[in-house]
Amino acid sequence: MITLDAVSKRYGDAVAVQDLSLSVPAEETTVLIGPSGSGKSTLLRLMIGLTRPDAGTVVVGDTTLTAATAPSLRRRMGYVIQEGGLFPHLTGRGNVALMARHLGWAADRIDDRIADLTDLVQLDPDRLEQYPPELSGGQRQRVSLMRALMLDPDVLLLDEPLGALDPMIRADLQDDLRAIFRRLGKTVVFVTHDIGEAGFFGDRVVLLRSGEVEQQGPMRTLLDDPASPFVTDFIQAQRGPLEHLHEDRE
Ligand code: ADP
Ligand code: MG
Repeated sequence: MITLDAVSKRYGDAVAVQDLSLSVPAEETTVLIGPSGSGKSTLLRLMIGLTRPDAGTVVVGDTTLTAATAPSLRRRMGYVIQEGGLFPHLTGRGNVALMARHLGWAADRIDDRIADLTDLVQLDPDRLEQYPPELSGGQRQRVSLMRALMLDPDVLLLDEPLGALDPMIRADLQDDLRAIFRRLGKTVVFVTHDIGEAGFFGDRVVLLRSGEVEQQGPMRTLLDDPASPFVTDFIQAQRGPLEHLHEDRE
């Protein structure tokens, strides 16, 4: 569905993505993990054409991303940026409806679509009349997801969508999101730096290191057959907070 071929992107001296090739299969969830600064967010921006590569090509479906094709391709892709990215001066409804209004959808069609999405993400409809700063973190993320889904895109790109949430709300939303992904059958690229979340969502996991793919495959493979000491160290560094209790008992 999305293919990157030998893509590089640098910012001044900083190499964000280095000669990277990757295939994102259709109708699966591919998780990008890796330490801070390893190029996860840059990779998403390259996939949706918000950042142009210095070298290499990005192909979405059958179309190569160029300055000319990016605007129409972008409409087939929903994107949730790291901080949610809602406009604070628009209500939840205003945020969700923005692109559809821009494209000239009839008011009825917009209302119907929003009602369906409100059900899907299990948001209290009254929340849509409020402004993002008045909402809880979990409610904001549900609105961000609705906005990303509004035009019924083939592809969903989510950049650490649950990163800022407290653990219980996060667990709730993880369950809801995974159910939504399975129900919709969309091509999802999900960025996280949390290994547990990666295993929970990912049909496939791609571990990045300094803008390159260190290892990719099912999470089980990264755990059982790590490609390098870096893979082991990355996983070890994130063992669960209760694990030491078991170790103490042994
Ligand atoms: P991640 O999302 O994995 O934390 P990023 O893709 O944000 O990583 O960043 C990868 C590298 O590129 C980092 O070194 C970062 O500082 C750099 N970088 C990313 N975006 C920019 C930008 N707009 N300007 C300058 N440097 C950037
Ligand atoms: Mg990032």
